[in-house]
Amino acid sequence: MQEHIAEILETIPSNVKLVAVSKTRPVEDINLVYQAGIRNFGENKVQEMAAKYPLLPNDINWHLIGHLQTNKVKLIAPFVSLIHSVDSLKLLVEINRQAEKNNRIIDCLLQLFIATEETKYGLDYEEAIEIINSEEYGSMKNIRIRGLMGMATFTENLHVVRHEFKSLKLAFDQIKEKYFNQDPNFSEISMGMSGDYIIAIEEGSTIVRIGTAIFGERSYGI
Ligand SMILES: *Cc1c(COP(=O)(O)O)cnc(C)c1O
Repeated sequence: MQEHIAEILETIPSNVKLVAVSKTRPVEDINLVYQAGIRNFGENKVQEMAAKYPLLPNDINWHLIGHLQTNKVKLIAPFVSLIHSVDSLKLLVEINRQAEKNNRIIDCLLQLFIATEETKYGLDYEEAIEIINSEEYGSMKNIRIRGLMGMATFTENLHVVRHEFKSLKLAFDQIKEKYFNQDPNFSEISMGMSGDYIIAIEEGSTIVRIGTAIFGERSYGI
């Protein structure tokens, strides 16, 4: 793992953040990656993140990268560092409510649907704009939208993947210009996984989410 991390870090420019995706990994493995200097860890399930959080060093930044159900926000609101997967106004309302209860501001990314394959989650461009323009969002005091997140189609065809990353960067540039021009906090594009992060960085990613290339293949057990 340590060698994997060193190799990956060499290919990532200093302005791009690495999130080590630790879903399904035991705490011991996460500790090894932590000892190699990594402080950003990503989980896709709320319960798993909430269970690992108290067992690991408290200077870890926890990133929620998977679909988030409204009724589970409260489990991570006290400590989550960045929620990558905001895909509805209803969810944003609840994150704001729980953030307020915990007396914090929670950083969020809007997840945009960029893939050609059928997946359930993510906003299209117009839906993202609707959220940003909504009165509800305008009155939220405990949310900071930091940028956009997207997942490319699961395919070997890297032309398709690059095209999808380009579309997320374009959406980011347009939204930035129209709605966040004066807001330096709107600065993040979360795109790129083990198989495509080099392309993602070439296309403007500022956060890559890497699991397999650090920890090895995931086994989901039987
Ligand atoms: C699992 C996962 C990753 C990491 O995938 P790898 O191929 O293991 O690098 C990145 N992003 C999301 C949203 C994931 O669920």
